[in-house]
Amino acid sequence: MPNTVIIGGSVAGFSVAAGLRDAGYTGAITIIDPHETALDRPPLSTDYLVGDDVDLALASDSWFVENNVTWVQDTVVRFSRGNVETASQTFQADHIVIATGATPKTLELPKPVYTFRTRADADVLRNSLGPGVCVAIAGGGLLAPELATSAQQLGAQVTVFTPHIPAGEVFGELAETLYTTMTQRVKVIPRRLTVDEDLDRFDLVIAAVGVEPAVQIAEGTGLILDDGIVVDEAYRTNVAGVYAIGDVCRIHNQPRQDHWDHGRASATRVVHTIMGTEPPARTPQWVWSDQFGHDAQAVGRVVPRAHEHLVHRGDNAIFVVSDQQLIGAAAIDEQLVIRAATRMITRGIAVDPEQLADTSVSIRQLTR
Ligand SMILES: Cc1cc2nc3c(=O)[nH]c(=O)nc-3n(C[C@H](O)[C@H](O)[C@H](O)COP(=O)(O)OP(=O)(O)OC[C@H]3O[C@@H](n4cnc5c(N)ncnc54)[C@H](O)[C@@H]3O)c2cc1C
Repeated sequence: MPNTVIIGGSVAGFSVAAGLRDAGYTGAITIIDPHETALDRPPLSTDYLVGDDVDLALASDSWFVENNVTWVQDTVVRFSRGNVETASQTFQADHIVIATGATPKTLELPKPVYTFRTRADADVLRNSLGPGVCVAIAGGGLLAPELATSAQQLGAQVTVFTPHIPAGEVFGELAETLYTTMTQRVKVIPRRLTVDEDLDRFDLVIAAVGVEPAVQIAEGTGLILDDGIVVDEAYRTNVAGVYAIGDVCRIHNQPRQDHWDHGRASATRVVHTIMGTEPPARTPQWVWSDQFGHDAQAVGRVVPRAHEHLVHRGDNAIFVVSDQQLIGAAAIDEQLVIRAATRMITRGIAVDPEQLADTSVSIRQLTR
């Protein structure tokens, strides 16, 4: 019987197990992860941090029983082709999927610096952030504004240090709108947080300064490592039968993607490879961020290159168009725009920039 072992059981690893079963895989599936079950991360910085009853589980216990997927609560210490080992057990595997994610970078400061990736990190901050607590949050990505939103909601006095407008690559021009909102809601200092800062005025310092791919178990195995485990477009590593997906990997000629939807999409691609089925056309990457009461979303690439057009639709939606084809879109509080843009991109629907820009033309109509 074929046998797949998945190392790491968050969105990427879990999606392989779920996708294999949906596709009719009859072999054994084992997920190895130190957590007690498959946990999601995006709610940690928002709903979980400020709420009491947020379920992070990607599936119920009964799902694992019904789908005959074995969850092993353990940490993988090494693997080689066909073999995966924890400190106490060895697993044989025809297919090994590495989905170990990433770990947060930190800052060297003469003060304790908190990072934010796991439920344990969130629990610590939940107990520390509160009315009157002065918190400095350093970072220029999606996480810093999300943490700033939650910290403020918990009553803390928030200062964000960011050397540039956060997530400019993700939300394009709309990142400026999000930045303006942040400056209206919390104190923003437009530079890096360094040792030169008067740190005594902060009770807490949080670094949200990016992540490193968690490649430790791949070191010395012969896998190519270069800002992540290097894979081909089908997420195959250079060792037969070994795949890497999600935050831990990087497609050889592309930048590393550390967004939730990439975890899911890369898992889907590996499922097709294992099943020997033809993958569907690639869907454009979708990213979202909930900050200061706004729902920001982007699909595809939203920073135009030479000869591409940036089209504005009102104040809260932008599109990148090249030769009547939509390359990407970003929108704030406009879910319909993102849904329509995804359809236009995946189906290759020809777009007219003038109509896209015209808010009197229904966006849904343009997808027909
Ligand atoms: C607080 C927060 C908020 C986020 N918000 C957004 C958002 O709004 N939008 C968005 O697009 N993305 C967001 N992201 C990013 C998104 O969550 C990640 O891209 C996604 O979780 C990556 O999934 P993954 O499965 O590749 O890795 P991870 O989620 O990092 O999971 C890796 C898993 O591997 C396990 N593991 C590691 N080493 C081993 C080992 N040796 N043996 C066994 N198991 C191991 C870990 O325990 C973990 O469960 C957010 C991330 C965080 C932390």
